[in-house]
Amino acid sequence: MNDSMRRAGAILLVIFGGTGLWWAGSGAPASASANDAMVATIAAAREYAAASDPRLKGASRFEEGGWIYLHLEGDPGAIGFQHGYLLAPEIEDGFAAVSAGMMHSTERDWEFFRKAAREMLWPKIDAEYQQELQGIVEGLRARTGSKLDVDDIVAFNAFEELPDYYVPWLNKQLGTANAPILKSPGNCSAFVAAGSWTKDGQIVMAHNNWTSYRNGERWRIVFDIAPKNGYRMLMDGFPGVIASDDDFGINSDGLMVTETTITQFEGWDPKGKAEFVRARKALQYAGSIDEYTGIMLDGNNGGYANDWLLGDRKTGEIAQLELGLKAYKLWRTKDGVLSGSNWARDSKVLKEDAPQFDPNNKESSPNARRARWDELLKENKGKIDVKLAEQMLGDHADTAQKKEEANERTLCGHVDGSPRGVKEWDWQPYYPGGAVQGKATDAAMTKEMRIMARMGHPCGGDFLAKPFLAAHPEYAWEEPYLRDMKAGPWTEFRSGQAAKE
Ligand SMILES: [Zn+2]
Repeated sequence: MNDSMRRAGAILLVIFGGTGLWWAGSGAPASASANDAMVATIAAAREYAAASDPRLKGASRFEEGGWIYLHLEGDPGAIGFQHGYLLAPEIEDGFAAVSAGMMHSTERDWEFFRKAAREMLWPKIDAEYQQELQGIVEGLRARTGSKLDVDDIVAFNAFEELPDYYVPWLNKQLGTANAPILKSPGNCSAFVAAGSWTKDGQIVMAHNNWTSYRNGERWRIVFDIAPKNGYRMLMDGFPGVIASDDDFGINSDGLMVTETTITQFEGWDPKGKAEFVRARKALQYAGSIDEYTGIMLDGNNGGYANDWLLGDRKTGEIAQLELGLKAYKLWRTKDGVLSGSNWARDSKVLKEDAPQFDPNNKESSPNARRARWDELLKENKGKIDVKLAEQMLGDHADTAQKKEEANERTLCGHVDGSPRGVKEWDWQPYYPGGAVQGKATDAAMTKEMRIMARMGHPCGGDFLAKPFLAAHPEYAWEEPYLRDMKAGPWTEFRSGQAAKE
């Protein structure tokens, strides 16, 4: 017997002191080798011991409509532990898919990202979120014996900002020869409306998340978080990531938040604070549009630069925060509609932060969708409600071709059907990406902490991996990670929800 086996044996004795009956019922197969049995026993013992960890108190998980609903509560370490423990299989799976994508696009190894996380990001993360990230690692280890450590989890949390903002900036600084082409992502179609635009005069907000189907099919968590400090939050999210990250969330002080990403954004400040930290902090602590703006600006690192669409149900005011690095602008109104489809609108932000973006090319995905939002929202002025918003998120009108066709220019994106791809994001023809899920809410629902969410294409269409890969062998590298993405029904989620009987 080696040392670690002896230690494990000692732990088992302690754990199984009064639990012989429990173990008798769960048995490993009698034919398994002694070693396999020992490994299985240790894993079962670890999981059993962890399940009674006091940090899990109050946390819960259930599945509905293709989503995994997760309730987390308590201090930061407990919230992290619950997250890591209850989503352990999904985090391991999501980490594998995301890290493979990060390494593939940047041609950097994983150690590069770990180092960036440790040396550049970690020192500027608030203590509260350091504890939560550390908690995720502890929860993961308690459940599965995961080998992931805090550097892995921090790099993974920064998956929207390290590959497409930091790496191109770094390559430029270093004059890296033959550096891969990296373009900031263009995620999402969204709007927020208020006043004479909506049916009840109150705020309506909707968003669909555009990303690779590889990642998007995993973007299926509804987080209900009751933190010790700050406001309660209800948001969609990715397993293992502490911010919503495609960004759709509401808080118990009435703030409503979503965004679309600024296409062809360039810039990074290595001294800044990670975007995923600022975004999470802003949803947790902002009770007004001004407070939200203040938190996002504090330590702005330029990562994952977005046009934030905000609503404050207490005042009925909506706002758009176009958050560049060198420039930013805030628009606000109590009677209007603000839409997003990955285009910057402020001339200074365009000039200084997204100089390559052409706002006049009507054929590009951001501009064609911008035209469609204008059309669709105007047509429905005074009638907009959550039901209508759900339909809009599944819209397939292509304004460039003036016809119905699900492609890269439609509000519900299907880039896998486009021979053009989206060159502004370096998405090649038939790239397996597009709108992967949708969410909507309004002021009345926000007051009760409720949202509607649909997993998969908001139009209800399915993506099937096998025929796609057969037709497009150029995406064969995704094969280990790319899965079917089948649409679920529009489903309501609310804070404090329990699984249906
Ligand atoms: Zn669609």
